[in-house]
Amino acid sequence: MAFDLTARLDERRARQRFRQPTLMDGPCGRTAVVDGREHLNFCANDYLGLAGDPEVVAAFRDAADRWGVGSGASHLVCGHQRPHQQLEEALAAHTGRERALLFSTGYMANIGAITALVGKGDALFQDRLNHASLLDAGLLSGARFRRFAHNDAAALAGQLARSDAGRKLVVTDGVFSMDGDQAPLAAYLDACEADDAWLMVDDAHGLGVLDGQGRGTAFAQGVNGRVPVYMGTLGKALGTAGAFVAGSNELIETLIQFARTYVYTTAMPAAVAAATLVSLDKARREPQRRAHLNALIQRFRRGAAELGYTLMDSDTPIQPILIGDDGAALALSRALAAHGVLVSAIRPPTVPEGQARLRVTLSAAHREADVDRLLGALEDNACRV
Ligand SMILES: *Cc1c(COP(=O)(O)O)cnc(C)c1O
Repeated sequence: MAFDLTARLDERRARQRFRQPTLMDGPCGRTAVVDGREHLNFCANDYLGLAGDPEVVAAFRDAADRWGVGSGASHLVCGHQRPHQQLEEALAAHTGRERALLFSTGYMANIGAITALVGKGDALFQDRLNHASLLDAGLLSGARFRRFAHNDAAALAGQLARSDAGRKLVVTDGVFSMDGDQAPLAAYLDACEADDAWLMVDDAHGLGVLDGQGRGTAFAQGVNGRVPVYMGTLGKALGTAGAFVAGSNELIETLIQFARTYVYTTAMPAAVAAATLVSLDKARREPQRRAHLNALIQRFRRGAAELGYTLMDSDTPIQPILIGDDGAALALSRALAAHGVLVSAIRPPTVPEGQARLRVTLSAAHREADVDRLLGALEDNACRV
């Protein structure tokens, strides 16, 4: 009786909110095999097409031969192997910081960094639309936790000025995962610097994609040197898995001492680090991937707008089509799948009520003709809002 799971699940079904994983029969790439049929894949965060890149795969295989599969322990015990060290150094150099520290996932990096930096007596300020891992970290930290209106630097400045907390940490996504827009970092930094607060940027969707060398949102906006805490993930544009925090030597030493999701977990396999060294190098040195991706983004936006769909204010590979109603978003996603095109429907609580959407993500792995097929499938569909 106490655990009436059936009623809870039924209620979720009734509200069109029931979620299920799609079973994929193949690697992440421009196409995906689902139910025995090949589809174009517009769901992945593999923005540069590196997840299945032959050189990255070969680096993974070679490193598995050399380093085995499991690291066997946490970094501080005996899990920190040479490829982990090399990757930390490469990530620090790439992001223009003194040091970087690896975490097993982005979720863990955010939990670890925020709870290490603020606690009782401190204050934390977050954009309302920040990623779930950042919001969870805020609740776990014990700090006073305030959320400000999306991308509203004036609202943030007001909250900072009214706070008398010891330490003040402001946290934002660099590129918002469900909207695709960028945070106004310069305005946030002005507010932070006026109030002795620190800014942390979660650049899961900016790293590899923005800036001429893929160095992310802070470089693209010309403010990289002013951001004290930079977090990036490896499972999106870099095509592998894991995450890191980059910053000053003191910041990294602090995380090594106090970030519990760093201390109390097994280090990622060295082969993942070795593969990421190669994908990071390719992300940096193959700007043609970003050029192609940007051309696809423009092509999609032009075409979808001509069809009368509502797009969001995004110049990144995340190109949501705003639908509104949960059931309508789901129906359109299913109709596109019937046309051989995979696009996920994103519903509350991942996005605010009444803002269900199709989250189209583009990748350098796509061809112009793929985008045209997506547009064709959208055109054939009556479910327009
Ligand atoms: C994906 C994502 C994360 C989580 O990273 P994982 O490595 O997948 O755990 C954190 N923040 C943002 C903004 C993300 O999009």
